[in-house]
Amino acid sequence: MSGNPAVVMRLVASAYTVAEKAGAIVRRVLHSGELGIVEKTGANDLQTLADRLAQQSICASLSKRFPKITIIGEEELPAEEVTEDLIENGQAEEILQKSCPAEYSGLKEEELVVWVDPLDGTKEYTEGLLDNVTVLIGVAYGGKPIAGIINQPFYNYQLGAGASLGRTIWGMPGLGAFGFQLQEVQGDTRIVTTTRSHSNNVVTDCVAAMEPHEVVKVGGAGNKVIQLVEGRASAYVFASPGCKKWDTCAAEAILHAVGGKLTDMRGNPYRYDANVKHMNSAGVLATLRNHEYYVSRVPQSVLQALKSD
Ligand code: AMP
Ligand code: MG
Ligand code: MG
Repeated sequence: MSGNPAVVMRLVASAYTVAEKAGAIVRRVLHSGELGIVEKTGANDLQTLADRLAQQSICASLSKRFPKITIIGEEELPAEEVTEDLIENGQAEEILQKSCPAEYSGLKEEELVVWVDPLDGTKEYTEGLLDNVTVLIGVAYGGKPIAGIINQPFYNYQLGAGASLGRTIWGMPGLGAFGFQLQEVQGDTRIVTTTRSHSNNVVTDCVAAMEPHEVVKVGGAGNKVIQLVEGRASAYVFASPGCKKWDTCAAEAILHAVGGKLTDMRGNPYRYDANVKHMNSAGVLATLRNHEYYVSRVPQSVLQALKSD
């Protein structure tokens, strides 16, 4: 360990504890029974009190310690003073102990962009599908994801009291990914994971074109990428606009850290600079292995239905 950790390692160490705090907020709001649901663009695009409080907590905590970074959060919230109880000041010591990949060691605060999805899988959260829910904090530099933190607030909830609830996964390309056991789907079995609440004909046509042995429909972009790295799915296929940069930045960083890929349906990467359009208009295709196979299977009709980013 160096005596003076690189800015990006300090940021990731803070984001880790900040994501844990956000996860605790997400649990607390659920247990309060008052979800405070608001429709954004429609019944399948929701915001709850947990989305609002978690984002306030994440953004205020990170910008207090790192005032020069650009932070882009999903929720549009009125600019108001965040109460002190939402501020998290901790840093994960085990992250500060790691040595920063050389290419990132000189990065400055003002060069970093943080993409925040305070609660991914809100629809599922309101329906009680709690393990679909994640808190996503992605760090980008030069348009590329360089670190990702995913908190899963209700991990283990089906095991009941006694099991330790919640976990945090994180990773950096060039350093590795932590907080889970990396596993691949066995053999050549193609298990495709896709949306359960934002489907349409193009989405289902594209999944079918992959010739999957099995299709899994679950909520959340973060949750689907966790399935990829834990050997429960081979490809995340979503041939539709709808996912945004805050859905994919953290997940893409973790995937890259273990040799995976996340692109649009053409196989082109998204960029995560501060000024990019938020929508991932050309869909999301993510894999741990064999990305080219899935790109090659996307039908022309699907590509025509999707705009380039
Ligand atoms: P899903 O796989 O449906 O859980 O979606 C993954 C992420 O993309 C979630 O944050 C969704 O809210 C978002 N998303 C996908 N499609 C749409 C859509 N049509 N409208 C709003 N959000 C969407
Ligand atoms: Mg989301
Ligand atoms: Mg969200």
